[in-house]
Amino acid sequence: MDFSFTREHELVKQLMKQFVDNEVRPIAAEIDETERFPLETIEKMAKYGIKGMSFSSQYGGSNTDYISYVIAVEELAKACCSTACIYAVSTGLVAAMIEKFGNEQQKQKYLPGLLAGTSIGAFALTEANAGSDASAQQTVAKDMGDYYLLNGSKTFITNAGYSSVYIVMAMTDKSKGVKGISAFLVEKDMEGFSIGKIEEKCGVRASSTGELIFEDVKVPKENLLGKEGKGFNIAMAGLDGGRISIATQALGLAEGALDEAIKYVKERKQFGKPIGKNQGLQWYIAECATKIEAGRALLYKAAWLKQAGLPYGKEAAMAKFYNSELAMEVTIKALQMHGGYGYTKDYAIERMFRDAKITSIYEGTSEVQKIVISRHILDL
Ligand SMILES: Cc1cc2nc3c(=O)[nH]c(=O)nc-3n(C[C@H](O)[C@H](O)[C@H](O)COP(=O)(O)OP(=O)(O)OC[C@H]3O[C@@H](n4cnc5c(N)ncnc54)[C@H](O)[C@@H]3O)c2cc1C
Repeated sequence: MDFSFTREHELVKQLMKQFVDNEVRPIAAEIDETERFPLETIEKMAKYGIKGMSFSSQYGGSNTDYISYVIAVEELAKACCSTACIYAVSTGLVAAMIEKFGNEQQKQKYLPGLLAGTSIGAFALTEANAGSDASAQQTVAKDMGDYYLLNGSKTFITNAGYSSVYIVMAMTDKSKGVKGISAFLVEKDMEGFSIGKIEEKCGVRASSTGELIFEDVKVPKENLLGKEGKGFNIAMAGLDGGRISIATQALGLAEGALDEAIKYVKERKQFGKPIGKNQGLQWYIAECATKIEAGRALLYKAAWLKQAGLPYGKEAAMAKFYNSELAMEVTIKALQMHGGYGYTKDYAIERMFRDAKITSIYEGTSEVQKIVISRHILDL
């Protein structure tokens, strides 16, 4: 067994720390406050080669391994969960799904832009009446010979309005249930496709979350991703990987929050000494640090399994479930250690606390992760 990072991983971590300190942390509070999508950061990421992490150079990737991608998301989330979320959906979910399920023509068409930072991707599964039960899709794609006619809507879609390409799940044959769902690559300029309500959120406020509306959108046949009727499998496979990304965001958030608390309890004095000299707060620090190590081990094991080409669905769900609950616990404790100041916008912990909650909701709630984990274990 070897728990250490390779030289390449250490270099990626160093590069990410530099990038985060120079480009991400300085604007994290402002983009949260103003709900500004940080397009410039995504472009800069591409220049550093961060966007192409874990993709082959054939499509403009930086040829690093999957663990390097996880390190990148972790470092981003330590400072700004919105940025980590935008990046993870566009790269770790959308580009990865196109790489895995797309044909050569689709890969050539979409991957270079996504990896170069000139385009952003979105993944559209959720509908008003198809949340945790993603099989209840009502968006319909009717085969019209040369094209599919897409009608319906999606809700809560990350990167809505900023993406060039959307992976959209729709029913091609309602009578077949989940086996009648197919995946499509829908481009932003296709006639009949529009963006509806953009949500005003509690956390990850700089990432856009919105509604997609499809009114008689003619989707060319060549934009079918994978085979007709395989959309649900494609979505679920994508989400297995996506869950590693969310588990990573959650871990990064927890680590970032603990760093803030450690700094604060050493500086802040009450009763004539740093508050960190009190055993009560020392125990908070010890508990958080220990659980973070446990969450780290779960996450990197899932990432290692994925990288090794081994089954990783159960471990990805475990890592997401554990780390997202952990992110909430650590941010609450870290805020508590800041006292009243932690409740103000003068300290980053207030934003981290708000950002943490989403990690136990998107890409499958904690309850859904428990369903996934128990299905793997019980095999019923
Ligand atoms: C900021 C944000 C970004 C998002 N980004 C995307 C995106 O990019 N693409 C996308 O497709 N979706 C996205 N989503 C949607 C997200 O994945 C869903 O919100 C989530 O899956 C839950 O669905 P729901 O909101 O409809 O809740 P519901 O399914 O209505 O669930 C409500 C509650 O009931 C519980 N529940 C439901 N069924 C069960 C059950 N069988 N057993 C136990 N408990 C259950 C849930 O766990 C939850 O606590 C995003 C959501 C948000 C808020």
